[in-house]
Amino acid sequence: MADLIRLTAAELAARVAAGDVSAVEVAEAHLARIDAVDEKVHAFLHVDREGALAQARAVDEKRANGEPLGPLAGVPLALKDIFTTEGVPTTVGSKILEGWIPPYDATVTKRLKAAGVVILGKTNMDEFAMGSSTENSAFGPTGNPWDLTRIPGGSGGGSAASLASFQAPLAIGTDTGGSIRQPAAVTGTVGVKPTYGGVSRYGMVAFSSSLDQGGPCARTVLDAALLHEVIAGHDPLDSTSIDASVPPVVEAARTGSVAGLRVGVVREFRGEGFQQGVLNRFDESVELLRGLGATIVELSCPSFDKALAAYYLIAPSECSSNLARFDAMRYGLRVGDDGTRSAEEVTSLTRESGFGPEVKRRIMLGTYALSSGYYDAYYGSAQKVRTLVARDFDRAFAQVDVVVSPTTPTTAFPIGERVDDPMAMYLADLCTIPVNLAGNAAMSLPCGLADEDGLPVGLQIIAPALADDRLYRVGAAVEAEFQARWGHPILEEAPAL
Ligand code: GLN
Repeated sequence: MADLIRLTAAELAARVAAGDVSAVEVAEAHLARIDAVDEKVHAFLHVDREGALAQARAVDEKRANGEPLGPLAGVPLALKDIFTTEGVPTTVGSKILEGWIPPYDATVTKRLKAAGVVILGKTNMDEFAMGSSTENSAFGPTGNPWDLTRIPGGSGGGSAASLASFQAPLAIGTDTGGSIRQPAAVTGTVGVKPTYGGVSRYGMVAFSSSLDQGGPCARTVLDAALLHEVIAGHDPLDSTSIDASVPPVVEAARTGSVAGLRVGVVREFRGEGFQQGVLNRFDESVELLRGLGATIVELSCPSFDKALAAYYLIAPSECSSNLARFDAMRYGLRVGDDGTRSAEEVTSLTRESGFGPEVKRRIMLGTYALSSGYYDAYYGSAQKVRTLVARDFDRAFAQVDVVVSPTTPTTAFPIGERVDDPMAMYLADLCTIPVNLAGNAAMSLPCGLADEDGLPVGLQIIAPALADDRLYRVGAAVEAEFQARWGHPILEEAPAL
């Protein structure tokens, strides 16, 4: 039983389909693991024991009746607490939504349930997905399973930590500037930000709508692909959802290869602020790709240097508009409604006590950037930089099939180290943010441990929009080669909890 939690999603699904184990047994093994370790890790904000067991029973019944099962039927999953779940709390890591029970499922939630995926619960995150460490959660931080005194990345630290501590074989994250890839990098797991519009945003609480993208998190490239296929595809309920067929991600993950591929290395993705051990693992990854038959091309993307600044105008601007809906009238928290105060006063008291400092900082920044007289200077200029970043990628992809970089400049930093230094925190996303600005697809996968601290390092692979399958083709080849060298999956190096 104990080793059920160590199996991949693909293996678990095969065992359930073959009748070697029931979906209920699989769910129970993972719930027991949560009971055993989550007090230390704090990956979950809410565990839905009843719901999970009911979903698992439904899979077992289907199988008993000889009905066809989907490729992930009976596999447990940890869902970031930013997706609405009918009848199950959804907080976005914020006090302002505490106690709110959504009356509907997000499209992602709906698709997971339809596929027979068993949702174990909702994972911890930075409030409204703003952060890189999960320390901005109103409900306390999550520990990195490699070292509980360090951050698991953010904003999706709960999802990544649940995978790395074997509480779930699959998880869902969202990535506005790096919140799937950076947690994957610092926990030794795999995370994919699909092409913008590839996965529906319906029922995903909005932070910055033109950047937000849900995506799969897993411990292997194939598992991420299987999950990607379940959640992706056109949704008429999301006006920015792409009306095109899902790229063949599973097939790509099963046929990993890089022979003949042109791989770009961007000069701007290194230098000051990069930890030497991260650069060492990255340089080895480039050599590994060369050894597997790829052609390495050095590129320059000069606008990337301004991407972080543009992001921190665009994302707060959109957030200031999106978060206006939390007015104490519609959802969750309401403070000061004692019959003596006006609606405006109640709204302002509620927002004052319901939002944390980082969310307030961004609302103020965004409101300022969008205000009349400043709009052109700030928001307008940021949009121009965004176009330049997209053009740099266009030029790059005219020469290469994929671009690679370190996912993050450093490994997991200690909890508390950057929490009072927003600029230092923002720098964690230096290499991931350009991808969101341009709307293309990217993956982070483990490429080894840093020399200085023995902590995981992530390799980022970036593909053009709608070519998500390339991430999986390259990722699977790299993963196979690394695992052959290490002799085991990287998480086996992590200390026992
Ligand atoms: N760390 C970035 C931010 O705080 C990205 C967050 C995300 O991708 N949701 O905005």
